Amino acid sequence: TLTDLNDYITPSQACIKPVEQVNPSRAVESGAAATEIRIDSNGSYYEVSKGLAQQTQKLQQAEISLNDCLACSGCITSAESILITLQSHTEVLNFLEHNPSRLVPGHRIPVLSIAPQSLASLAASLASSSGQPSVPLADVLSRVRAFATECLGFDHVYDTTFARHLSLLEHIREFQERQDEDGHRLPMLASACPGWVCYAEKTHSEMLPFISQTKSPQAIMGTLVKGWMAHKWGKRPEDIYHITVMPCYDKKLEASRPDFFDEASNTRDVDCVLTTGEFVLLIKEKNFDLSVPVPPSPTLPSDLPDLLVHLGTSSGSYLHAIISHLIRSSPTPLTLSTASAEATSKQNADSTEYVLTAPDGSTVFRGATCYGFRNLQNVVRRVARDAGIRVIRGRPTVVSKRGASQKAYDYVEVMACPGGCVNGGGQLPRSTTAHIDTSGTLADDGDGGMGSKWADRAWTREVERAYWDGREPVGDRFGLLTPPASPKRKATQIAERSNAHADQLALLVLSDMCNVSVSRWGEEMDAQGEERRRKLFRTSYHAVESEVIGLGVKW
Ligand code: SF4
Repeated sequence: TLTDLNDYITPSQACIKPVEQVNPSRAVESGAAATEIRIDSNGSYYEVSKGLAQQTQKLQQAEISLNDCLACSGCITSAESILITLQSHTEVLNFLEHNPSRLVPGHRIPVLSIAPQSLASLAASLASSSGQPSVPLADVLSRVRAFATECLGFDHVYDTTFARHLSLLEHIREFQERQDEDGHRLPMLASACPGWVCYAEKTHSEMLPFISQTKSPQAIMGTLVKGWMAHKWGKRPEDIYHITVMPCYDKKLEASRPDFFDEASNTRDVDCVLTTGEFVLLIKEKNFDLSVPVPPSPTLPSDLPDLLVHLGTSSGSYLHAIISHLIRSSPTPLTLSTASAEATSKQNADSTEYVLTAPDGSTVFRGATCYGFRNLQNVVRRVARDAGIRVIRGRPTVVSKRGASQKAYDYVEVMACPGGCVNGGGQLPRSTTAHIDTSGTLADDGDGGMGSKWADRAWTREVERAYWDGREPVGDRFGLLTPPASPKRKATQIAERSNAHADQLALLVLSDMCNVSVSRWGEEMDAQGEERRRKLFRTSYHAVESEVIGLGVKW
Protein backbone atom coordinates (compact mmCIF):
# COMPACT_ATOMS: atom_id res chain seq x y z
CA THR A 1 0.00 0.00 0.00
CA LEU A 2 2.79 2.38 0.89
CA THR A 3 4.26 2.15 -2.60
CA ASP A 4 1.20 3.88 -3.99
CA LEU A 5 1.50 6.87 -1.73
CA ASN A 6 1.38 10.25 -3.28
CA ASP A 7 4.12 12.36 -1.73
CA TYR A 8 2.55 15.59 -2.75
CA ILE A 9 0.02 17.81 -1.17
CA THR A 10 -2.23 20.47 -2.54
CA PRO A 11 -1.40 23.35 -0.24
CA SER A 12 -4.50 25.49 -0.73
CA GLN A 13 -6.66 22.61 0.41
CA ALA A 14 -4.54 20.69 2.85
CA CYS A 15 -2.04 23.08 4.37
CA ILE A 16 -2.74 24.42 7.84
CA LYS A 17 -0.25 26.75 9.39
CA PRO A 18 -1.05 27.64 12.97
CA VAL A 19 -1.17 31.39 13.58
CA GLU A 20 -0.86 32.52 17.14
CA GLN A 21 -3.83 34.62 18.16
CA VAL A 22 -4.03 36.33 21.51
CA ASN A 23 -7.61 36.44 22.74
CA PRO A 24 -8.00 38.80 25.70
CA SER A 25 -10.66 37.57 28.09
CA ARG A 26 -13.86 39.58 27.83
CA ALA A 27 -17.16 39.51 29.65
CA VAL A 28 -19.60 37.30 27.76
CA GLU A 29 -23.38 37.56 27.87
CA SER A 30 -24.80 34.39 29.25
CA GLY A 31 -25.87 32.07 26.45
CA ALA A 32 -24.39 34.27 23.73
CA ALA A 33 -21.54 33.42 21.41
CA ALA A 34 -18.39 35.24 22.49
CA THR A 35 -17.47 36.47 19.03
CA GLU A 36 -18.43 36.22 15.44
CA ILE A 37 -16.33 36.43 12.31
CA ARG A 38 -17.22 38.86 9.54
CA ILE A 39 -15.76 39.01 6.06
CA ASP A 40 -15.79 42.28 4.16
CA SER A 41 -15.98 42.77 0.42
CA ASN A 42 -12.15 42.73 0.14
CA GLY A 43 -12.02 39.30 1.70
CA SER A 44 -10.57 40.58 5.00
CA TYR A 45 -11.63 38.79 8.17
CA TYR A 46 -12.78 40.56 11.35
CA GLU A 47 -13.48 39.21 14.80
CA VAL A 48 -16.45 41.03 16.32
CA SER A 49 -17.08 40.66 20.03
CA LYS A 50 -20.73 40.27 21.05
CA GLY A 51 -20.55 42.02 24.39
CA LEU A 52 -22.18 45.36 25.28
CA ALA A 53 -19.27 47.30 23.80
CA GLN A 54 -18.93 45.75 20.38
CA GLN A 55 -15.30 45.57 19.37
CA THR A 56 -14.06 44.75 15.90
CA GLN A 57 -10.58 43.47 15.33
CA LYS A 58 -9.08 42.77 11.92
CA LEU A 59 -7.57 39.30 11.83
CA GLN A 60 -4.09 38.70 10.62
CA GLN A 61 -3.84 36.87 7.32
CA ALA A 62 -1.78 33.70 7.44
CA GLU A 63 0.92 33.45 4.81
CA ILE A 64 2.52 30.19 3.86
CA SER A 65 5.88 30.20 2.13
CA LEU A 66 7.74 27.31 0.63
CA ASN A 67 10.13 27.49 3.56
CA ASP A 68 7.19 26.84 5.87
CA CYS A 69 6.26 23.81 3.80
CA LEU A 70 9.70 22.29 3.93
CA ALA A 71 10.33 23.17 7.55
CA CYS A 72 6.97 21.84 8.70
CA SER A 73 6.08 18.26 9.35
CA GLY A 74 2.50 18.99 10.32
CA CYS A 75 1.22 19.70 6.86
CA ILE A 76 0.86 16.27 5.40
CA THR A 77 -1.80 14.24 3.71
CA SER A 78 -3.40 11.41 5.66
CA ALA A 79 -1.44 8.91 3.55
CA GLU A 80 1.79 10.67 4.42
CA SER A 81 0.86 10.78 8.08
CA ILE A 82 0.66 6.98 7.98
CA LEU A 83 4.02 6.94 6.26
CA ILE A 84 5.59 9.24 8.84
CA THR A 85 4.12 7.15 11.66
CA LEU A 86 5.77 4.15 10.07
CA GLN A 87 9.06 6.04 10.09
CA SER A 88 9.33 7.02 13.73
CA HIS A 89 11.52 6.01 16.64
CA THR A 90 8.56 4.13 18.19
CA GLU A 91 8.26 2.11 14.99
CA VAL A 92 11.95 1.18 15.32
CA LEU A 93 11.42 0.08 18.92
CA ASN A 94 8.33 -1.81 17.83
CA PHE A 95 10.26 -3.60 15.10
CA LEU A 96 13.13 -4.51 17.44
CA GLU A 97 10.74 -5.83 20.08
CA HIS A 98 8.89 -8.07 17.63
CA ASN A 99 11.88 -9.17 15.53
CA PRO A 100 12.18 -12.94 16.02
CA SER A 101 15.50 -14.05 17.52
CA ARG A 102 18.38 -14.92 15.22
CA LEU A 103 17.79 -18.63 14.83
CA VAL A 104 14.05 -18.31 14.29
CA PRO A 105 12.73 -18.00 10.70
CA GLY A 106 11.57 -14.49 9.93
CA HIS A 107 14.44 -12.80 11.80
CA ARG A 108 15.59 -9.65 10.00
CA ILE A 109 19.11 -8.27 10.45
CA PRO A 110 18.89 -4.70 11.78
CA VAL A 111 21.32 -2.33 10.06
CA LEU A 112 21.75 1.35 10.87
CA SER A 113 23.35 3.97 8.59
CA ILE A 114 23.93 7.49 9.87
CA ALA A 115 24.69 10.62 7.84
CA PRO A 116 27.87 12.54 8.73
CA GLN A 117 25.77 15.72 9.11
CA SER A 118 23.73 13.95 11.81
CA LEU A 119 26.96 12.92 13.56
CA ALA A 120 28.10 16.56 13.38
CA SER A 121 24.82 17.69 14.90
CA LEU A 122 25.26 15.18 17.75
CA ALA A 123 28.88 16.29 18.22
CA ALA A 124 28.02 20.00 18.35
CA SER A 125 25.10 19.35 20.68
CA LEU A 126 27.31 17.33 23.05
CA ALA A 127 29.91 20.09 23.06
CA SER A 128 27.27 22.76 23.62
CA SER A 129 25.66 20.97 26.57
CA SER A 130 28.98 20.15 28.26
CA GLY A 131 30.86 23.34 27.41
CA GLN A 132 33.66 21.11 26.09
CA PRO A 133 35.32 21.43 22.70
CA SER A 134 33.58 19.53 19.93
CA VAL A 135 33.74 15.73 20.13
CA PRO A 136 35.44 14.27 16.98
CA LEU A 137 33.01 12.59 14.59
CA ALA A 138 34.89 9.28 14.89
CA ASP A 139 34.22 9.29 18.66
CA VAL A 140 30.54 10.12 18.13
CA LEU A 141 30.28 7.29 15.60
CA SER A 142 31.84 4.87 18.13
CA ARG A 143 29.28 5.94 20.75
CA VAL A 144 26.40 5.61 18.26
CA ARG A 145 27.72 2.17 17.38
CA ALA A 146 27.95 1.17 21.04
CA PHE A 147 24.38 2.37 21.64
CA ALA A 148 22.90 0.73 18.57
CA THR A 149 24.63 -2.62 19.04
CA GLU A 150 24.62 -2.96 22.83
CA CYS A 151 21.30 -1.30 23.71
CA LEU A 152 19.24 -1.97 20.59
CA GLY A 153 20.79 -5.15 19.21
CA PHE A 154 21.80 -3.80 15.77
CA ASP A 155 24.18 -6.06 13.86
CA HIS A 156 25.82 -3.38 11.73
CA VAL A 157 26.26 0.39 12.04
CA TYR A 158 27.74 2.46 9.21
CA ASP A 159 28.08 6.07 8.33
CA THR A 160 26.96 7.04 4.83
CA THR A 161 30.22 8.55 3.57
CA PHE A 162 31.18 5.48 1.51
CA ALA A 163 27.76 5.63 -0.16
CA ARG A 164 28.45 9.30 -0.83
CA HIS A 165 31.80 8.31 -2.33
CA LEU A 166 29.95 6.12 -4.85
CA SER A 167 27.41 8.88 -5.43
CA LEU A 168 30.22 11.35 -6.22
CA LEU A 169 31.92 8.90 -8.61
CA GLU A 170 28.67 8.33 -10.49
CA HIS A 171 27.91 12.04 -10.37
CA ILE A 172 31.21 12.82 -12.14
CA ARG A 173 30.46 10.18 -14.74
CA GLU A 174 27.04 11.68 -15.38
CA PHE A 175 28.56 15.15 -15.69
CA GLN A 176 30.99 13.79 -18.30
CA GLU A 177 28.18 12.13 -20.21
CA ARG A 178 26.25 15.40 -20.32
CA GLN A 179 29.36 17.29 -21.41
CA ASP A 180 29.99 14.78 -24.17
CA GLU A 181 26.46 15.35 -25.45
CA ASP A 182 27.67 18.73 -26.70
CA GLY A 183 26.78 20.28 -23.35
CA HIS A 184 23.13 20.49 -24.21
CA ARG A 185 22.00 18.95 -20.94
CA LEU A 186 24.19 21.32 -18.95
CA PRO A 187 23.99 22.97 -16.54
CA MET A 188 23.68 20.00 -14.27
CA LEU A 189 21.95 20.58 -10.96
CA ALA A 190 22.67 18.47 -7.87
CA SER A 191 20.14 15.82 -6.92
CA ALA A 192 21.08 14.71 -3.40
CA CYS A 193 18.55 17.02 -1.71
CA PRO A 194 14.98 15.69 -1.86
CA GLY A 195 13.70 19.03 -0.59
CA TRP A 196 14.88 20.72 -3.78
CA VAL A 197 14.09 17.83 -6.14
CA CYS A 198 10.47 17.56 -4.94
CA TYR A 199 10.12 21.32 -5.31
CA ALA A 200 11.30 21.09 -8.91
CA GLU A 201 8.99 18.16 -9.63
CA LYS A 202 6.04 20.08 -8.32
CA THR A 203 6.63 23.65 -9.40
CA HIS A 204 9.50 23.78 -11.91
CA SER A 205 9.19 20.81 -14.23
CA GLU A 206 11.23 22.75 -16.81
CA MET A 207 14.22 22.15 -14.50
CA LEU A 208 13.90 18.36 -14.43
CA PRO A 209 16.14 17.63 -17.47
CA PHE A 210 18.93 19.57 -15.74
CA ILE A 211 18.77 17.70 -12.44
CA SER A 212 21.36 14.99 -12.05
CA GLN A 213 19.87 11.50 -11.96
CA THR A 214 22.55 10.09 -9.70
CA LYS A 215 21.07 8.61 -6.53
CA SER A 216 21.68 10.39 -3.24
CA PRO A 217 24.00 8.86 -0.60
CA GLN A 218 20.97 7.61 1.36
CA ALA A 219 19.54 5.89 -1.72
CA ILE A 220 22.92 4.36 -2.63
CA MET A 221 23.37 3.19 0.95
CA GLY A 222 20.04 1.40 0.55
CA THR A 223 21.29 -0.25 -2.65
CA LEU A 224 24.53 -1.26 -0.93
CA VAL A 225 22.94 -2.69 2.21
CA LYS A 226 20.04 -4.55 0.57
CA GLY A 227 22.10 -5.54 -2.47
CA TRP A 228 25.84 -5.87 -2.15
CA MET A 229 26.10 -6.35 1.63
CA ALA A 230 23.08 -8.69 1.79
CA HIS A 231 24.70 -10.86 -0.87
CA LYS A 232 27.97 -10.88 1.09
CA TRP A 233 26.12 -11.98 4.22
CA GLY A 234 24.26 -14.70 2.31
CA LYS A 235 20.92 -12.96 2.93
CA ARG A 236 18.02 -11.75 0.80
CA PRO A 237 17.04 -8.06 0.79
CA GLU A 238 13.88 -8.84 2.77
CA ASP A 239 16.00 -10.44 5.51
CA ILE A 240 17.40 -7.01 6.40
CA TYR A 241 15.77 -4.09 8.21
CA HIS A 242 17.63 -0.95 7.22
CA ILE A 243 17.30 2.27 9.20
CA THR A 244 18.96 5.56 8.31
CA VAL A 245 19.52 8.61 10.51
CA MET A 246 19.31 11.78 8.44
CA PRO A 247 19.35 15.55 8.99
CA CYS A 248 15.86 16.21 7.59
CA TYR A 249 12.30 14.92 7.20
CA ASP A 250 12.51 15.12 3.41
CA LYS A 251 14.68 12.02 3.46
CA LYS A 252 11.67 10.03 4.72
CA LEU A 253 9.79 10.97 1.59
CA GLU A 254 12.84 10.24 -0.55
CA ALA A 255 13.08 6.73 0.91
CA SER A 256 9.42 6.13 0.05
CA ARG A 257 9.79 6.97 -3.67
CA PRO A 258 8.70 4.08 -5.90
CA ASP A 259 12.20 4.00 -7.45
CA PHE A 260 13.61 2.80 -4.16
CA PHE A 261 11.21 -0.09 -3.71
CA ASP A 262 12.19 -3.53 -4.96
CA GLU A 263 9.12 -5.37 -6.19
CA ALA A 264 10.87 -8.72 -6.47
CA SER A 265 11.67 -8.81 -2.76
CA ASN A 266 8.75 -6.54 -1.77
CA THR A 267 11.09 -4.42 0.31
CA ARG A 268 12.34 -0.85 0.44
CA ASP A 269 16.05 -0.07 0.17
CA VAL A 270 15.63 1.97 3.36
CA ASP A 271 12.87 0.69 5.64
CA CYS A 272 12.80 3.54 8.11
CA VAL A 273 14.32 7.03 8.24
CA LEU A 274 14.82 8.82 11.55
CA THR A 275 15.86 12.43 11.87
CA THR A 276 18.77 13.24 14.18
CA GLY A 277 16.23 14.56 16.71
CA GLU A 278 14.20 11.34 16.58
CA PHE A 279 17.38 9.30 17.02
CA VAL A 280 18.11 11.24 20.21
CA LEU A 281 14.60 10.37 21.44
CA LEU A 282 15.54 6.74 20.93
CA ILE A 283 18.76 7.28 22.91
CA LYS A 284 16.83 8.99 25.71
CA GLU A 285 14.21 6.28 25.81
CA LYS A 286 16.95 3.72 26.41
CA ASN A 287 18.70 5.95 28.99
CA PHE A 288 21.97 5.82 27.10
CA ASP A 289 24.47 8.59 27.84
CA LEU A 290 26.06 9.73 24.60
CA SER A 291 28.42 12.08 26.44
CA VAL A 292 30.39 9.15 27.94
CA PRO A 293 33.35 8.08 25.75
CA VAL A 294 33.49 4.44 24.66
CA PRO A 295 36.54 2.53 23.46
CA PRO A 296 36.69 2.11 19.68
CA SER A 297 34.63 -1.01 19.03
CA PRO A 298 36.87 -3.99 18.17
CA THR A 299 33.85 -6.30 18.25
CA LEU A 300 32.23 -4.74 15.22
CA PRO A 301 34.78 -4.23 12.46
CA SER A 302 32.97 -2.26 9.84
CA ASP A 303 33.21 -3.70 6.36
CA LEU A 304 32.81 -0.27 4.81
CA PRO A 305 35.33 2.52 5.40
CA ASP A 306 34.30 4.97 8.12
CA LEU A 307 33.95 8.72 7.77
CA LEU A 308 35.58 9.34 4.41
CA VAL A 309 36.54 12.96 3.97
CA HIS A 310 35.29 14.68 0.84
CA LEU A 311 36.78 18.13 0.74
CA GLY A 312 34.41 20.88 -0.31
CA THR A 313 31.07 21.43 1.36
CA SER A 314 29.46 19.72 4.32
CA SER A 315 26.36 19.10 2.20
CA GLY A 316 28.15 16.54 0.08
CA SER A 317 31.00 18.18 -1.85
CA TYR A 318 29.28 17.60 -5.20
CA LEU A 319 30.53 20.78 -6.86
CA HIS A 320 34.05 20.22 -5.56
CA ALA A 321 34.14 16.65 -6.78
CA ILE A 322 33.39 17.95 -10.29
CA ILE A 323 35.97 20.75 -10.01
CA SER A 324 38.58 18.34 -8.68
CA HIS A 325 37.85 15.92 -11.53
CA LEU A 326 38.16 18.67 -14.17
CA ILE A 327 41.48 19.87 -12.75
CA ARG A 328 42.89 16.36 -12.60
CA SER A 329 41.77 15.38 -16.08
CA SER A 330 42.78 18.61 -17.82
CA PRO A 331 45.87 18.38 -20.07
CA THR A 332 46.72 21.98 -19.14
CA PRO A 333 46.82 23.46 -15.63
CA LEU A 334 43.55 25.15 -14.65
CA THR A 335 43.16 27.94 -12.14
CA LEU A 336 40.33 27.88 -9.66
CA SER A 337 39.04 31.31 -8.87
CA THR A 338 36.61 32.14 -6.15
CA ALA A 339 37.18 35.88 -6.31
CA SER A 340 33.67 36.67 -7.41
CA ALA A 341 32.45 34.14 -4.89
CA GLU A 342 34.22 35.91 -2.04
CA ALA A 343 32.59 39.16 -3.04
CA THR A 344 29.25 37.43 -3.29
CA SER A 345 29.63 35.51 -0.08
CA LYS A 346 29.95 38.74 1.89
CA GLN A 347 26.36 39.44 0.96
CA ASN A 348 25.11 35.91 0.86
CA ALA A 349 27.20 33.02 2.08
CA ASP A 350 24.70 30.48 0.72
CA SER A 351 25.37 31.43 -2.86
CA THR A 352 28.96 31.16 -4.04
CA GLU A 353 30.48 30.94 -7.50
CA TYR A 354 33.60 29.08 -8.62
CA VAL A 355 35.32 29.56 -11.95
CA LEU A 356 37.99 27.40 -13.62
CA THR A 357 40.19 29.24 -16.07
CA ALA A 358 42.58 27.89 -18.72
CA PRO A 359 46.11 29.36 -19.16
CA ASP A 360 44.83 31.48 -22.10
CA GLY A 361 42.29 33.11 -19.80
CA SER A 362 39.24 31.36 -21.23
CA THR A 363 36.60 30.07 -18.81
CA VAL A 364 36.52 26.27 -18.73
CA PHE A 365 33.91 25.80 -16.05
CA ARG A 366 31.59 27.91 -13.98
CA GLY A 367 29.89 26.40 -10.96
CA ALA A 368 28.00 27.58 -7.92
CA THR A 369 26.66 26.44 -4.59
CA CYS A 370 23.12 27.53 -3.90
CA TYR A 371 21.54 26.89 -0.50
CA GLY A 372 18.10 27.94 0.66
CA PHE A 373 15.02 28.75 -1.37
CA ARG A 374 15.69 32.45 -1.68
CA ASN A 375 18.84 31.71 -3.69
CA LEU A 376 17.20 28.83 -5.45
CA GLN A 377 14.64 31.06 -7.11
CA ASN A 378 17.45 33.13 -8.63
CA VAL A 379 19.32 30.07 -9.88
CA VAL A 380 16.18 28.55 -11.39
CA ARG A 381 15.49 31.79 -13.24
CA ARG A 382 19.07 32.04 -14.55
CA VAL A 383 19.28 28.41 -15.61
CA ALA A 384 15.91 28.58 -17.36
CA ARG A 385 16.89 31.80 -19.14
CA ASP A 386 20.22 30.35 -20.27
CA ALA A 387 18.50 27.22 -21.51
CA GLY A 388 16.11 29.40 -23.49
CA ILE A 389 13.12 28.23 -21.47
CA ARG A 390 10.27 30.46 -20.49
CA VAL A 391 7.12 29.45 -18.68
CA ILE A 392 4.29 30.46 -21.00
CA ARG A 393 0.76 30.00 -19.70
CA GLY A 394 2.03 27.67 -17.00
CA ARG A 395 3.94 25.49 -19.49
CA PRO A 396 7.72 25.47 -19.78
CA THR A 397 8.47 26.35 -23.40
CA VAL A 398 11.80 26.37 -25.23
CA VAL A 399 12.05 29.75 -26.89
CA SER A 400 15.68 29.64 -28.07
CA LYS A 401 18.75 27.43 -27.89
CA ARG A 402 22.00 29.07 -26.92
CA GLY A 403 25.59 27.93 -27.06
CA ALA A 404 27.43 26.44 -24.10
CA SER A 405 29.67 29.49 -23.77
CA GLN A 406 26.72 31.66 -22.85
CA LYS A 407 25.68 29.58 -19.87
CA ALA A 408 25.69 31.16 -16.44
CA TYR A 409 26.67 27.85 -14.87
CA ASP A 410 27.86 24.40 -15.86
CA TYR A 411 27.01 22.93 -12.50
CA VAL A 412 25.09 24.06 -9.41
CA GLU A 413 25.14 22.30 -6.04
CA VAL A 414 21.58 23.01 -4.93
CA MET A 415 20.36 22.41 -1.38
CA ALA A 416 17.02 23.47 0.05
CA CYS A 417 18.20 24.38 3.56
CA PRO A 418 19.96 27.68 4.24
CA GLY A 419 23.47 26.61 5.28
CA GLY A 420 22.96 23.18 3.68
CA CYS A 421 22.49 19.79 5.33
CA VAL A 422 24.22 20.73 8.60
CA ASN A 423 21.16 22.96 9.08
CA GLY A 424 18.52 20.39 8.11
CA GLY A 425 15.05 20.61 9.66
CA GLY A 426 15.58 17.39 11.64
CA GLN A 427 18.87 18.42 13.27
CA LEU A 428 19.39 19.11 16.96
CA PRO A 429 19.03 22.58 18.39
CA ARG A 430 21.62 24.31 20.54
CA SER A 431 21.12 22.44 23.80
CA THR A 432 21.36 25.47 26.12
CA THR A 433 18.52 27.33 24.43
CA ALA A 434 16.33 24.63 23.08
CA HIS A 435 15.08 21.14 23.58
CA ILE A 436 13.69 18.30 21.54
CA ASP A 437 9.97 18.17 22.00
CA THR A 438 8.05 14.95 22.41
CA SER A 439 7.65 14.46 18.68
CA GLY A 440 11.38 14.69 18.10
CA THR A 441 11.19 17.98 16.23
CA LEU A 442 13.43 20.90 16.88
CA ALA A 443 11.77 23.34 19.26
CA ASP A 444 13.83 26.45 19.87
CA ASP A 445 12.65 28.24 22.97
CA GLY A 446 15.50 30.66 23.28
CA ASP A 447 16.84 33.48 21.19
CA GLY A 448 18.73 31.27 18.81
CA GLY A 449 15.95 30.57 16.36
CA MET A 450 14.57 32.69 13.59
CA GLY A 451 10.95 31.79 14.18
CA SER A 452 11.21 28.63 12.12
CA LYS A 453 12.76 25.21 12.31
CA TRP A 454 16.01 26.37 10.75
CA ALA A 455 18.72 27.08 13.30
CA ASP A 456 20.41 30.48 13.59
CA ARG A 457 23.61 31.05 11.64
CA ALA A 458 25.87 30.92 14.71
CA TRP A 459 24.59 27.45 15.63
CA THR A 460 24.82 26.28 12.02
CA ARG A 461 28.47 27.37 12.05
CA GLU A 462 29.02 25.28 15.22
CA VAL A 463 27.62 22.19 13.51
CA GLU A 464 29.70 22.97 10.40
CA ARG A 465 32.81 23.21 12.58
CA ALA A 466 31.98 19.89 14.25
CA TYR A 467 31.55 18.35 10.79
CA TRP A 468 35.07 19.32 9.70
CA ASP A 469 36.76 19.03 13.10
CA GLY A 470 40.14 17.37 12.57
CA ARG A 471 39.17 16.23 9.09
CA GLU A 472 40.33 19.01 6.80
CA PRO A 473 43.26 21.39 6.44
CA VAL A 474 42.28 24.41 8.50
CA GLY A 475 41.22 27.39 6.44
CA ASP A 476 41.87 25.74 3.09
CA ARG A 477 39.15 23.52 1.82
CA PHE A 478 40.58 23.57 -1.66
CA GLY A 479 44.08 22.35 -0.88
CA LEU A 480 43.63 19.49 -3.32
CA LEU A 481 42.23 21.65 -6.02
CA THR A 482 44.25 24.77 -6.54
CA PRO A 483 47.35 24.44 -8.67
CA PRO A 484 50.16 24.82 -7.85
CA ALA A 485 49.47 22.22 -5.24
CA SER A 486 49.05 23.63 -1.76
CA PRO A 487 51.39 22.21 0.87
CA LYS A 488 50.01 18.87 1.96
CA ARG A 489 48.75 18.89 5.47
CA LYS A 490 47.89 15.96 7.64
CA ALA A 491 44.16 15.86 7.11
CA THR A 492 44.52 16.05 3.33
CA GLN A 493 46.95 13.15 3.34
CA ILE A 494 44.58 11.07 5.46
CA ALA A 495 41.73 11.96 3.10
CA GLU A 496 43.74 10.91 0.06
CA ARG A 497 44.84 7.63 1.64
CA SER A 498 41.40 6.54 2.80
CA ASN A 499 39.75 7.71 -0.41
CA ALA A 500 42.20 5.61 -2.46
CA HIS A 501 41.08 2.56 -0.48
CA ALA A 502 37.45 3.63 -1.00
CA ASP A 503 38.08 3.88 -4.77
CA GLN A 504 39.28 0.27 -4.81
CA LEU A 505 36.27 -0.90 -2.84
CA ALA A 506 33.98 1.12 -5.11
CA LEU A 507 35.34 -0.76 -8.14
CA LEU A 508 34.71 -4.06 -6.40
CA VAL A 509 31.11 -3.03 -5.65
CA LEU A 510 30.55 -1.89 -9.25
CA SER A 511 32.10 -5.03 -10.73
CA ASP A 512 30.16 -7.34 -8.39
CA MET A 513 26.81 -5.64 -8.85
CA CYS A 514 27.04 -5.19 -12.62
CA ASN A 515 28.66 -8.60 -13.26
CA VAL A 516 31.42 -6.89 -15.28
CA SER A 517 35.04 -6.39 -14.33
CA VAL A 518 36.06 -2.72 -14.49
CA SER A 519 39.35 -0.98 -13.71
CA ARG A 520 37.92 2.52 -13.17
CA TRP A 521 34.49 3.81 -12.23
CA GLY A 522 33.82 5.77 -15.43
CA GLU A 523 34.71 2.83 -17.69
CA GLU A 524 32.13 1.99 -20.36
CA MET A 525 30.55 -1.44 -19.85
CA ASP A 526 28.56 -3.64 -22.21
CA ALA A 527 24.89 -2.78 -22.72
CA GLN A 528 23.72 -5.11 -19.94
CA GLY A 529 26.26 -3.73 -17.50
CA GLU A 530 25.31 -0.15 -18.34
CA GLU A 531 21.63 -0.92 -17.87
CA ARG A 532 22.37 -2.46 -14.50
CA ARG A 533 24.53 0.51 -13.50
CA ARG A 534 21.68 2.88 -14.34
CA LYS A 535 19.24 0.88 -12.26
CA LEU A 536 21.62 0.65 -9.31
CA PHE A 537 23.03 4.17 -9.14
CA ARG A 538 20.58 6.46 -10.93
CA THR A 539 16.97 7.46 -10.52
CA SER A 540 14.41 9.49 -12.46
CA TYR A 541 11.94 12.30 -11.81
CA HIS A 542 8.37 12.99 -12.73
CA ALA A 543 6.61 16.32 -13.06
CA VAL A 544 3.72 16.51 -10.65
CA GLU A 545 0.56 18.11 -11.95
CA SER A 546 -1.12 20.40 -9.49
CA GLU A 547 -4.31 18.92 -8.17
CA VAL A 548 -5.68 22.28 -7.18
CA ILE A 549 -8.68 23.30 -9.25
CA GLY A 550 -9.93 26.64 -8.01
CA LEU A 551 -13.60 25.81 -8.46
CA GLY A 552 -13.18 22.53 -6.63
CA VAL A 553 -11.90 24.11 -3.41
CA LYS A 554 -14.47 23.79 -0.63
CA TRP A 555 -14.59 26.47 2.02
FE1 SF4 B 1 17.60 17.61 3.68
FE2 SF4 B 1 18.08 20.23 3.88
FE3 SF4 B 1 20.08 18.56 3.19
FE4 SF4 B 1 18.10 19.06 1.49
S1 SF4 B 1 19.62 20.55 2.26
S2 SF4 B 1 18.96 17.02 1.97
S3 SF4 B 1 16.31 19.27 2.85
S4 SF4 B 1 18.99 18.60 5.14
